[in-house]
Amino acid sequence: MTETVLVVVSPDGPVLADPSVPLVRADDAGLLRGESVFETMRVASGRAFGVEAHLSRLARSAARLALEVPPLDGLLELALGQWDAPDGVLRVVVTRGGTAFALLTELPASTVAQRAGVSAVVLDLGVPADLRAASPWLLGGVKSTSYAVNMAALREAAARGADDVVFCTSDGEVLEGPTSTCAWVTDGVLVTPPPDEVAILPGTTMHVALSLLQGPYEVRRGTVEELRAADEVLLLSSVRGVAPVVALDGVRREVGPVGAHLREAFEAAVQG
Ligand code: PLP
Repeated sequence: MTETVLVVVSPDGPVLADPSVPLVRADDAGLLRGESVFETMRVASGRAFGVEAHLSRLARSAARLALEVPPLDGLLELALGQWDAPDGVLRVVVTRGGTAFALLTELPASTVAQRAGVSAVVLDLGVPADLRAASPWLLGGVKSTSYAVNMAALREAAARGADDVVFCTSDGEVLEGPTSTCAWVTDGVLVTPPPDEVAILPGTTMHVALSLLQGPYEVRRGTVEELRAADEVLLLSSVRGVAPVVALDGVRREVGPVGAHLREAFEAAVQG
């Protein structure tokens, strides 16, 4: 078994650290108040996929929190150099208190299994569609470690016997998953909500998927009603990849041709 790899940013650059030793100060607002930003990347064939997109999104999230990102030069390279498994999960975290690190862990078998299909439930985030974009302090579209709500939503899904969640607005628009981007296919057209307009995270996987798509797509707002009526529903995220939704609120669905193609094409792109 490959051990967890931890690399910490020090004043002299990145250094290897013992993952079993505590790292974050007890008075770090990143810990006390969830004021940290993070990215999660997929490692495949010994390299991290989409590093540039992830690091620029990390910078955008940090700017939204007015949080300084220290130079990360050599951080990922040092971590990857210690990793001897072909697959893995690479996280980069920067806290308000100034701790920055990369953590490389194994790819969970349960995540790989979900590529075959996930069951999801629709959960209401309780705000109307226009509110989050008009209220930047709600931090819609920011990848911060204030993800307790997202994790609670996943527990609610599990309590209902499902794997995942599609968040919707109080006025019935589709947003995103707690850790994924949502897309659906109707009459051969793939639709995904516009991140800026509804204040969701711009997914790096969705971005790659659009370049791999062999058909038309629309980046536009859509309703839960439309989602339920769609031919295919997909959840996309870096580590899991393209996961077709095979049950939505208990209603069984098929893996369709667009989802099957994107899942395969994305895996091929990740493997390089
Ligand atoms: N939306 C949210 C809220 C996320 O946390 C994530 C990733 O974790 C995504 C979407 C998907 O982003 P990506 O495809 O870059 O992993």
